[in-house]
Amino acid sequence: MEKTKDKVITCNNCVMDSTDPSIKFNKDGICDFCTNFKNVIEPNWRSISINNKKVIKLVNKIKKSGSNKEYDCVIGMSGGVDSSYLAYIAKVKLGLRPLILSVDTGWNLNVANENVLKIIKKLNLDLETVVINWEEMKDLQLSFLKSQVPYQDLPQDHVIFAGLYNYAIKNKIKYILTGANFSTEGVKPPQEWTYLNDIKFIKSIQKKFGSVRLKTLPMVGMFKQRIIYRYIKGLRVIHPLNWIKYDKENALEELRTKFGWEKYENKHYENVFTRFYEGFWLPTKFGYDKRKCYFSNLILTNQITRTEAFEMLRKQPYNEKIAKQDLEYIADKLDLSVTQFIDIMNGQNKNFRDYDNNYKWIKFAIKLAKFVGLEKRNFR
Ligand SMILES: [Zn+2]
Repeated sequence: MEKTKDKVITCNNCVMDSTDPSIKFNKDGICDFCTNFKNVIEPNWRSISINNKKVIKLVNKIKKSGSNKEYDCVIGMSGGVDSSYLAYIAKVKLGLRPLILSVDTGWNLNVANENVLKIIKKLNLDLETVVINWEEMKDLQLSFLKSQVPYQDLPQDHVIFAGLYNYAIKNKIKYILTGANFSTEGVKPPQEWTYLNDIKFIKSIQKKFGSVRLKTLPMVGMFKQRIIYRYIKGLRVIHPLNWIKYDKENALEELRTKFGWEKYENKHYENVFTRFYEGFWLPTKFGYDKRKCYFSNLILTNQITRTEAFEMLRKQPYNEKIAKQDLEYIADKLDLSVTQFIDIMNGQNKNFRDYDNNYKWIKFAIKLAKFVGLEKRNFR
C-alpha cells in the first residue's frame, strides 16, 4: 500500500490539503477551491431563488414541454439525501410532474431502496427501474479493480449517468433534474482521486482486463452528451437545489419527518460498493479521503465549522466490522475469493495516465466551457 509520506499542507479555510496534487494555495494559505467558491460560485448562487423571474420562466417551460405527456421531467434517484429532497421540491414546491428513475447496478443497500419507495409512495410519483446486465457490470468492475486505478466507482457512476440520459432521450423527456448542487458539490473531488467521466478510459481498461464484451451497458461519451443530446435533441439538465437555501441537515430532518426517510453514514453511502471504495480503497490504498471534499463544502456553505470537520476526520471513515463484512460481500458478488481480492488491493497503484484516455480533450472542452461561461466550477 502506498501513502503520501511528504508533509501534508492544509488549506486555512477548508480541510482540503496537498493529498490533492493539483491544489494551489494563495499567499494567505487559502486553496483554489475556496477562492473559486468565494469569487465565482457564491455570488451566483446567492442571487437566485425559487421566486426568481428566470426560475419561474424555466419551470413554466418545463411544464409546457410535458403538457401533453405523462411526465415533464425525469429525476434519477439513488435513495440519497440530495435526490430524495429534489423529488420533493420538484413535485411539491415547483409543481412539476417528474418520473423517478432508478438505475439498479446491483449494489444498492436496502435502506436506500426503501427510501426511494417511501418518497414515491407519499408523493404519488411513478418509478421506473433500469436494471443493468449484471454479467457485464461485474466484468467491468473486475477490470477496474485489476487496473489498480483510484476511481473504482467510475463503472457505476457512468452507467447510472448514462442510463438516465439514454432513458430521457428514448422517452422524449426534455428535462433531467439532478440533485447536484453548489452547497454540497462546490468542491469537486480532485481529478487525481476520481478522474472524469471518460468512455475512452473505461473502454481501454475493459479491453486490457475484461473477459466479456460490453453490449448492453448504458454509455454516453462526452461528445454525445454535450453536443448531440444537448444541441440536437434539446436535452437540458437542471439543478433546482441551487434555487433554494439547501441545508443538508435541515433537508434530512424534513425528509425524516415527512417521509420516514432513513439516514446513513456520509454522502453516497447508499451503495455497498461505493461505501467500500470511498471508505477503504481510496484512503487505505491511496491516502485519499473523500470526506475532505464533502466537509469542505459544508464549511464553505456555513453548515459546519472547520474545527468540527477536523474532529469528524479524526474518526475512521468506515467502521472496521462493516469494512470486513463488505469486503467479503463484494468478493463473493464479484466471484473472487477473499484472498484474491486482498491480493488485488495489495497490487501496485496506478492512475488514469497509465491507460488511454481523453484527458487532453476533456480538459480543453472544460476550459472552453468556462471561457464562454457554461461552467463555473473549478476543474483542474
Ligand atoms: Zn480551501
